[in-house]
Amino acid sequence: MAGRSSDVLVIGAGVIAKATALALSKLGKSVTLFAPRDLLNVSATHASGAMLGSFAEFTKDRSGIADHHEAELRIRSGRSWEAWFEEISDGGDRLGRVRRGTYIVASNNGLMDLENIEYIQTQADKYGEPNEWVDPRDVAGLLPHRLSRAVKVLSLPNEGYIDSGVLLATLDGALARRAAVSVVDSPVTSLRLDGDRPTAVTADGERHTADDVVVAAGVESANLLDQLGVPGQHGTPTLLGGRGVSIVVRSPIEFPGVMRTPNRDFACGSHVVPLGDGRTYLGATNRLEVVDFGRPMPSLGELHSICHSLANEINVHLRTASVVECRAGYRPISSDGYPFFGQTAHPNVFVATGTYRNGVLMAPVIADVVAREVCRQAADQENPFDPRNREHLFADRDVNATMLASLRQVVSFVQEPDGNLPFDRAAELERLLAAFLRAGTGMEGGDEVADLFERITRRYPISEAMPILMYEVKG
Ligand SMILES: Cc1cc2nc3c(=O)[nH]c(=O)nc-3n(C[C@H](O)[C@H](O)[C@H](O)COP(=O)(O)OP(=O)(O)OC[C@H]3O[C@@H](n4cnc5c(N)ncnc54)[C@H](O)[C@@H]3O)c2cc1C
Repeated sequence: MAGRSSDVLVIGAGVIAKATALALSKLGKSVTLFAPRDLLNVSATHASGAMLGSFAEFTKDRSGIADHHEAELRIRSGRSWEAWFEEISDGGDRLGRVRRGTYIVASNNGLMDLENIEYIQTQADKYGEPNEWVDPRDVAGLLPHRLSRAVKVLSLPNEGYIDSGVLLATLDGALARRAAVSVVDSPVTSLRLDGDRPTAVTADGERHTADDVVVAAGVESANLLDQLGVPGQHGTPTLLGGRGVSIVVRSPIEFPGVMRTPNRDFACGSHVVPLGDGRTYLGATNRLEVVDFGRPMPSLGELHSICHSLANEINVHLRTASVVECRAGYRPISSDGYPFFGQTAHPNVFVATGTYRNGVLMAPVIADVVAREVCRQAADQENPFDPRNREHLFADRDVNATMLASLRQVVSFVQEPDGNLPFDRAAELERLLAAFLRAGTGMEGGDEVADLFERITRRYPISEAMPILMYEVKG
């Protein structure tokens, strides 16, 4: 079967593939982009709030080597984002713009809100980012329930956001103006190497070949790489899906910018993003899926969780907002938790994914780095997220400590949407879970838990003795 040929195949319909196709065409490459229109509505990009949260995404318990590199990637991309958007908008109808202003709202409902908002402020100072503590009563649009009042609010006047619909339409417009890019409206169903030449076959049965391929199909990227049989340093990467749900509503409430809690319970907190024209984006949930990334549908529980949090912690009048649209998508998470982009173990196969909660923000830099690598240009900065060399990222990783620390978020998210166990119950439950984890996995301290259990059950072999264990374990 005769095939069509170009310099590079780019596979994916979201922001990463589209930004990469544009970056490649800017460097003089002819590109075939496989971006089926009907898959767009199930992409993470479509579901996203498109906050450019370089600083809002700092979380106190994530300060290892890999977190440091990721923060620098966010900040670098955040600072180049508006110029990149201006560049891709050039020559097209102006559909919208990057807007600025983010308020981080710490309330008593978030177990770690106070620690995290203070950490965000210290990081903003460290990187010279304008920031200011503001009185919660002075923030227009912030009107929480009296039991969910804001404890502290931090204003980040430069932190940006955009309507994800505007972003995707602008990318499509830019691609349509590039003669060197041809967009195929059909998914790739088979990907293989003919010798060293990547060859893709679409659902329509068309065959396309090129010198190089960039796999940027979000959470499906690992399945495509599997077809090529290209191992990373430690085998083909696994991708997990951070299932996220969001809602677009109509409401007369005017928010002066993004209003969001710090990151919470494995998600990017609860947030509202003003979209203009009386529309407001409400997000977002995050639940890990490891197998099935079929067409995601929002569940009632997820919708309830978003509405409950935002109508109590941000503005009680959101309760009466009219729902325009509910969205869902999978954030692509690499199995080691960090972005994953650049050349793979095969010199003609490149990948761009693993962006998790921040792919919209990171797209300009990731696209630029990958396009330069495809063009064999020397990088102006080393890529710490190179798929072939990731050990350095985790030299300080302590998996046991990470798992024990995550129990606090587990206890917090099992209490959603209300988030209020009485007294000190949340901390007690966290200690009990930590004790079981130590004992069950042989971690340090596990023997002491087993001894305590033995002593208590020998003395009081009745079910009522269980709370004694809960009160006595050290966690
Ligand atoms: C609810 C939610 C809120 C978020 N909020 C933010 C935020 O505020 N800021 C931020 O920066 N990030 C945010 N993110 C994360 C961000 O959306 C992702 O990191 C980013 O969009 C990933 O982009 P992508 O192009 O890699 O993947 P996607 O956007 O998922 O796009 C991949 C596309 O490729 C398609 N595809 C799959 N297989 C094939 C194939 N074989 N052939 C062709 N196409 C294929 C998929 O169907 C999909 O349409 C959020 C994500 C979610 C879900």
